[in-house]
Amino acid sequence: MRIKVLGCSGGVGPGLRTTSLLVDDEILIDAGTGVGDMSLNQQRRIRHVFLTHCHLDHVCGLAFLADNLFDLIDRPIEVHATAETLASVREHIFNWKIWPDFSTLPNEQEPLLRWRKVLTGEPFDLEQGRSLIAFPVLHTVPAVGYALQGQRGTFVFSGDTYADDRLWSALNRLPRLDKLMIEIAFPDEQAALGHASKHFTPALLGAELRKLEHRPKLYLTHHKPGCEPAIEKQCKDALRDWDYVHLQRGDTISFS
Ligand SMILES: [Zn+2]
Ligand SMILES: [Zn+2]
Repeated sequence: MRIKVLGCSGGVGPGLRTTSLLVDDEILIDAGTGVGDMSLNQQRRIRHVFLTHCHLDHVCGLAFLADNLFDLIDRPIEVHATAETLASVREHIFNWKIWPDFSTLPNEQEPLLRWRKVLTGEPFDLEQGRSLIAFPVLHTVPAVGYALQGQRGTFVFSGDTYADDRLWSALNRLPRLDKLMIEIAFPDEQAALGHASKHFTPALLGAELRKLEHRPKLYLTHHKPGCEPAIEKQCKDALRDWDYVHLQRGDTISFS
């Protein structure tokens, strides 16, 4: 199982792309601006897209992916998300105003995109011994994280989230948790903004992690552009007991 980080920033700028993870060359988890760095051939190989929530930094690449692949693929890309997230992207993006409804193009029988409702807690089989399961997280809109279980270990992506016991109890229920990609958007001095926008800060994540019964390696993500130095400095103290890295675009997380 190989996860390539196409984007993991909380914003855009030189060298920065928003959240998108490419799993084994055929699955995207979120479709932020990182999607734009894939070649057409790489884009053609995508079979599934799993969305954590409807925010633009996590879904905007889906619009361009569908447009690029018009006439280039012969079966739909399955777009998996909760009912709330699907309703939002359909109503507000693929609505024939912001963008065409690619779930009806080129025709309704064989469209470019096919919407698939995700139910939290129900595993989705991805073949080759892999499965993916969604769990609810706390954010300003309905949101989920995903646990990707393979034969050699379990990778979890929290999506955008905040302090919430449901997160830790979902993770504690997993039989194993080897690698946890989790967000820190703001430094501690912006904790009020983090609370309002439901994003972690270093001190809050450090305190919340005491509820986690697994001991995964941490992959920190979604730092807002310009906040990286302060977040990195504060993590040295807040996460001093943890094995962690600040994830960068282009990094690969693999299980071997
Ligand atoms: Zn968000
Ligand atoms: Zn985000």
